[in-house]
Amino acid sequence: MTRPVYVHDLDALATHVRSIRAALPDRVELLYAVKANPEPDVLRTLAPTVDGFEVASRGELRRLADVLPDRSPAAYAGPGKTDEDLAAALAAGVGRVHVESPAELRRLGALARSAGTTADVLLRVNLPVRAPGASLVMGGGPSPFGMDPDDVRALAHRPPPGVAVRGVHAHLASGLDAPLAAEVAAAVVEWAVGEVGATEVDVGGGMSVDYADPTARFDWSGYGRALGDILDHRPGVRVRIEPGRAVTVYCGAYLAEVVDVKRSYGEWFVVVAGGTHHLRTPVAKGHAQPFTVHRRATDGAPRTDGGPVTVVGQLCTPKDVLSRSTDAGPVAVGDVLIFAMAGAYAWNISHRDFLLHEPPEFRVGSPGDVALGWADRS
Ligand SMILES: *Cc1c(COP(=O)(O)O)cnc(C)c1O
Repeated sequence: MTRPVYVHDLDALATHVRSIRAALPDRVELLYAVKANPEPDVLRTLAPTVDGFEVASRGELRRLADVLPDRSPAAYAGPGKTDEDLAAALAAGVGRVHVESPAELRRLGALARSAGTTADVLLRVNLPVRAPGASLVMGGGPSPFGMDPDDVRALAHRPPPGVAVRGVHAHLASGLDAPLAAEVAAAVVEWAVGEVGATEVDVGGGMSVDYADPTARFDWSGYGRALGDILDHRPGVRVRIEPGRAVTVYCGAYLAEVVDVKRSYGEWFVVVAGGTHHLRTPVAKGHAQPFTVHRRATDGAPRTDGGPVTVVGQLCTPKDVLSRSTDAGPVAVGDVLIFAMAGAYAWNISHRDFLLHEPPEFRVGSPGDVALGWADRS
């Protein structure tokens, strides 16, 4: 039995992020939201292409300092920042602190003053945006994130001592396709420039990822053109985006060996040596994780009948479901399942200590090659 493996395809990641950067106008800054995947190799691969990193904790701050000591983060964000967090952000020289509340802004200002400096901030607004193209309202409801537009307006016009308000930040929704994301960006920029006089607007992340279609991609070219149109009318304004998932999700795969197959009341279950304690994404998002089967079982190994299967792991809970598939074909004990799209909110959001199973191994390369390598190992 081989240990599960996470494989990161760094060449594919580098190509992908370069294509994202190339699709965006020069005046749009591309930040990577580190929380999506903070693996050192991933950060190093993105570093030459992105304009900066958005961190949301002191742990992410330390990670970035360890891996890329020459790059201080472009932004420090996130709810519940303590005085220690804010002081660390100031000491690290982060470009902008994204502030979540009036009280946080006052604390930050006081800390900056006692450190003999001024904090450059973006105020996070929870703005109601009604996208004309969709019968959907984003933001504008009670939320722990961001501030009401009236509060942002007031703070921008009368900031407390110790802070310089550079603009506005909004991250209103996730799973937005390019036309919708562009409408949100246009609305946020219009409000930020018109109501607050902002010259910097960070319109957030949340670009859509379709787990049902591993070949689909967010339309970065269309989005880039739309952002270009927004900027055309506003020469003095800089726009930032901070995607996470849509940048790294495709570069990761999780490989696990089939340890058992069984029929239960007419339905086939495939049991892998691994599970959602390594790859929590399908549980967190409520989807079937896409996978392919690397067939390497010996003749005579127990196998499914080729019909629908439910793929589960080694946890003693019915929630440990990685995937379901109707077209996987026969799956046998000894085969390796290659779960795709495991490069974002995957290992780092997983409850790795539940049942104290062995952690996975980590490799760099192409998932197919690693799966082939396994054939020699068992
Ligand atoms: C999580 C988060 C992001 C990144 O979101 P993705 O869906 O991974 O693109 C960006 N900005 C903020 C404020 C976030 O909380």
